[in-house]
Amino acid sequence: MQLLDRHQFNTGEEFRTIMDPLPIMVRVCDKNGTVRYSNAALKQFTGDLPLWSSGIHEDFRPSYEELFVSHAESQTAFKTKYRFRDNSGAYRWLAEHSIPWYSTEGTYLGCVCYMMDIDEMIATEVEQVSLEALQREQALNEELEASNEELNLTNGELQFSQEKLRQGNDNLEQILNMLPASVVVIRGYNLEVEMINNSNLSYWQKTKEQVLGRPFLEILPDLTDQPFASQLRRVMETGEIIDVKESPVLFTSPDGNTRETYVDYTYQPLYDLEGNPTGVLVMSFEITDRVLSRRLLEKYAEELTSANARLLISNEELARSEARFKYLIQEAPVAIGVLHQRDLIIESANSKILEVWGKSSEIVGIPLSKALPELQGQPFLGILDEVYTTGKPFYANEIRSLLEHNGVLKEIFFNVTYQPVLDISGSTSDIMVVAVDVTEQVNSRRQVEQSEQHFRYLADLVPAKISNAMPSGEVTFFNKQWLDFGGMDFEDMRDFGYHQMMHPEEVSAFQAGLAQAAEIGVPHVSEMRFKNTQGKYIWHLNIASPILDEAGNIKMWVGSTTDIQILKEEAQRKGDFVSMLSHELKTPVTSIKGHIQLLLRAVNKETTSELTNKLRPSLSRIDKLLVQLTGLIADMLDLTRIDSGRLDLKKESFLLEGLVMEVVEDFRLSHQQHFFHLDLESGIEVFADRHKISQVLINLIANAIKYGPNSNVVDISMLAVGNEVLVRIKDYGIGIDQKDQKKIFERFYRVEGQNESHYSGFGIGLYLACSIVEFHDGKITVESGKGKGSTFIVHLPRCSA
Ligand code: ADP
Repeated sequence: MQLLDRHQFNTGEEFRTIMDPLPIMVRVCDKNGTVRYSNAALKQFTGDLPLWSSGIHEDFRPSYEELFVSHAESQTAFKTKYRFRDNSGAYRWLAEHSIPWYSTEGTYLGCVCYMMDIDEMIATEVEQVSLEALQREQALNEELEASNEELNLTNGELQFSQEKLRQGNDNLEQILNMLPASVVVIRGYNLEVEMINNSNLSYWQKTKEQVLGRPFLEILPDLTDQPFASQLRRVMETGEIIDVKESPVLFTSPDGNTRETYVDYTYQPLYDLEGNPTGVLVMSFEITDRVLSRRLLEKYAEELTSANARLLISNEELARSEARFKYLIQEAPVAIGVLHQRDLIIESANSKILEVWGKSSEIVGIPLSKALPELQGQPFLGILDEVYTTGKPFYANEIRSLLEHNGVLKEIFFNVTYQPVLDISGSTSDIMVVAVDVTEQVNSRRQVEQSEQHFRYLADLVPAKISNAMPSGEVTFFNKQWLDFGGMDFEDMRDFGYHQMMHPEEVSAFQAGLAQAAEIGVPHVSEMRFKNTQGKYIWHLNIASPILDEAGNIKMWVGSTTDIQILKEEAQRKGDFVSMLSHELKTPVTSIKGHIQLLLRAVNKETTSELTNKLRPSLSRIDKLLVQLTGLIADMLDLTRIDSGRLDLKKESFLLEGLVMEVVEDFRLSHQQHFFHLDLESGIEVFADRHKISQVLINLIANAIKYGPNSNVVDISMLAVGNEVLVRIKDYGIGIDQKDQKKIFERFYRVEGQNESHYSGFGIGLYLACSIVEFHDGKITVESGKGKGSTFIVHLPRCSA
């Protein structure tokens, strides 16, 4: 180690000035491994240690000693990493690069060792197990290797320079180049570069020629706006030491690209002989990789934090949505359960399925067959096993089950789905059961079916023929009486029998009446003939009643058809009798009328005597009564003719206005207290039986007088509307209640009530009037209300020509 003996260095002070502030630790060992020199950085780290290995962590000491000895023997360089105790007693990671050292004669003297504190870097490595970190480590290794090579080279050069060292200052530059740190010596206010090592040149990306003797800012004009020049001048002015960590240095290349670097640097003043600071020793250590990797690490850490936060949020969301899902399943109004594997272990069961099963949540975790032992003998376990085996879902509606609820077997109906749940291999792992309890629906349907059955029994028991039809007319039911009457089964009767049984003369009127009834939503009542099994037509009273829903639409028809054949025959007999009687009465009454008129004429010719005075009013009275009697007989005859459809009409064309005036004139003569207001459109011609139409008008005007006891006004108007003529007879009498307005046109119908009982009559006038008008293809309508007077309107067809 003579090399390091102080007297051997002409520039020994300068050597120390350079070595001491180096951020890298340097020690020089003799061939026994004894430390002969430590630089300031090393001393600061650990103090003087004669035997280096005593500071090495015991885990690394044996391997280090072995490495050191073997390299001393082979006189080769080595590099290694180990943990070393610093002066605070803490162990830190060091990277050591050891280079063999020779005398000028080529004798092996020992080694020069450079140590770097890599604890932070190792920590980074540990934290950042990433490719980038590995790459950076590699880069670092490569850098170390490069330095190693450089040092190896330098080593040779150093040996060569031994001689020169003894002679002058040049050796300093050689030593500087050995260092992995960047070193530059700056002199004077212009900041001229006096000395620079290779590491600094490569950091500046310049050649020695480009920098030596030239001002700093000329070499690196891109650093003008950065603080370095002013700091350098300050060191020369004040003699202070500037020590900066992690300073960014931005180089701009001629192509405009920016190179961002980071350095730890120290500006140390160099003094002249008078002790004035005239230069600066700049030592810097590029730590760009470390900074960038730390930044990357920070960025990763940040990203990791935010990813963690996001993960936390999505975990929370997941937890929430899972909770929601569970809640939905749990509270779903349908029964849901999951059965696991072939044993059908109840894995989950929501509240509804427990309610339907009549069990508590204690059954979760046990096989279905044990949880619901009552299923033995019922089809479910078998079906579930089949679903498990085949992997095919099972669906069923209104499936019946018996389930034990509090010790009692309950009949429950379900709509159910057994859905296999497959695992990744495609085989069934679970079965999901989804069931809807439809017991109530099934029971209420059963009740409906039962009540329908009851209705059918009832319908079969009544003597009337009962039928049911859809709004479309399609018959859905005939009771037994109908089927017996027709001698057919239901289908035949429905498909053709019913209509075939109707008398052909009544089919169209029945259909028209039914259509009208459907339109206004009222029952259609008609007398109709239906053919029995012997082919004989039997009269029936047929009532087709529409049944309406809440909205007023027809939901079905109920038909009630009653046999009135006997009544009809009775009526026929009565009719025949009345007809016969009227005929029989007609001749004697006519004859009596003749005789009375004869008597009247004779009495009128006689001179007035007591006898003639007594006879005359009686004979006049008999004459009037005979007029009434003949009218009644004529009505009776008309009635029988109408009933038998034999009303003979003697039709002719005439002006209706004339006939109305004629009739009214007669009334004016016989009812002189009454006012008959006429409003007649002239020129309206009709083709009709003049006598019969006058009978109609007489009937209506007589009723207007009869049923208007407190009024003496009758309005009669006539006008043409389209191809009809309307004759209105309006009175101001007692009026007719709505419910009676249809019935008053029926035979023998008379409105019952206190008022009506005062009026004499048979209840055939309107029937005859109506029938006569219908025989003329017309009709009579009425507008009235109780106590509001009545208006009867005769509609007759007008003459077309
Ligand atoms: P009646 O011989 O009883 O008058 P109708 O057939 O002429 O027989 O009339 C039938 C029923 O109609 C009457 O009993 C009466 O109650 C009612 N009626 C007929 N015309 C009127 C009217 N203009 N005003 C009130 N009620 C009437």
